[in-house]
Amino acid sequence: MIKFGGATLGREDRIRKTVQVVRSTTGPVVVVVSAREGVTDRLKRALEKGVSKDSISSLSEDLRTLHPGIPDVLEANIAALEGDLARLPRARHAGSEIADAVLARGERLSAHWYAERLEQEGIRAEPLEADQIGLLTDGTFGGAVIQQSTSRRLVRARVLPVIRRGAVPVVTGYIGRDGVGRTTTLGRGGSDYTATSLGSFLDAERTILVKTDVSLFSADPRVVRRAEPIGRLSYEEAEELAQFGARVLHPLTVEPARLHGMEVTVESLERPGLSTTIGPAVRGRGIRAMTLLTPVALLHLRVPGGRQRKGVIAEVSRILSDARINVVTLFTSSALLSILVEAPMGEAARRVLLPFVRKDGLGATLNGPRRTALVTVIGEGVAADIERLPRSVTSEALGISGTTRTLSLAVPEKLGPSTLREAHRALVEDRSARRTA
Ligand code: ASP
Ligand code: MG
Repeated sequence: MIKFGGATLGREDRIRKTVQVVRSTTGPVVVVVSAREGVTDRLKRALEKGVSKDSISSLSEDLRTLHPGIPDVLEANIAALEGDLARLPRARHAGSEIADAVLARGERLSAHWYAERLEQEGIRAEPLEADQIGLLTDGTFGGAVIQQSTSRRLVRARVLPVIRRGAVPVVTGYIGRDGVGRTTTLGRGGSDYTATSLGSFLDAERTILVKTDVSLFSADPRVVRRAEPIGRLSYEEAEELAQFGARVLHPLTVEPARLHGMEVTVESLERPGLSTTIGPAVRGRGIRAMTLLTPVALLHLRVPGGRQRKGVIAEVSRILSDARINVVTLFTSSALLSILVEAPMGEAARRVLLPFVRKDGLGATLNGPRRTALVTVIGEGVAADIERLPRSVTSEALGISGTTRTLSLAVPEKLGPSTLREAHRALVEDRSARRTA
């Protein structure tokens, strides 16, 4: 199973390299493709800003240029897209049926275009649109979850015959359909998740996620200059990394691979040596990787005698989830609950929690939202590292929490990058220096 990210399907020299990857792989290959570089962003902009007649036709023109060789499919998709966009002013909002129908066009076109391109290169290929071959989801527009067991049966029945015919199936990433046949998208970057799901349905030996030059690093190299590439990490570590905001992986990517025991490698098209393998944990090898999630909104809820009051946490979680507010993480002590939510949701969280806070007899107070940054260090046994963090880091923390493989610190927003750099120096750079000494 090989997945090509949008940027690898941008420039011609990169496309040629992807064809080379397909050609040089031995054994049956299944390809998953993202939309070509920039296409999803443009569709998303059209959704957010609304579109004039002129901008619709310039978008259509660009799609024609980007997807040569498939005139019938192209025109059918463009006609449907133009129809949807023309209906938009009434229906426009992210996470709706029409938004997902619009966003899905990028992958549909890309799969047909890329299969045709492989054919021209002498490689037999057949395009498949994931929603049409039975990739079923839970129906959440804009962030759907794949239903693994039902999809497995349906998808195998459609993909295996293509492989048996000696062709390379080229499947759309990022999309599926719900129980009543409506197209749903898996959230930005969702093609990774499509690829590991398909890989597990087809019992693939491994899934290769091909990106341009990004790979998994001990921290975002744009913030931490001395970040180091990570060669290998466990499913659990990769899962935490994706959850805590390492944008290279869609958060649900790892789950199907872990359940199936399938290896996932993240490879770089531009720098072939730079790859990361995600697989079962290897004893005694601790990695340290860290993420910075910023800004996030921090609310402090103080409930006197909190631990004695049953169900406070449950009640708070219910109120937030009823309001469709995602909790990033929670820190708790006996009387204080620190709640971190996505930054744009901070005010809304306060609003829905206030009635609960003011309830008679509870005596609770609510502070915030305050804009903060969340730095998370990931790796087996990381809790023990807290004593190696410099005091300058821990003394500024507004909250700290840990599990056996994560250590999270909430700090004031403006200290986010420097906290990440200091933590990296203490836990990654000093450690490598010791190893080489
Ligand atoms: N094209 C979609 C996006 O840009 C899905 C993906 O690239 O994985 O988010
Ligand atoms: Mg993309």
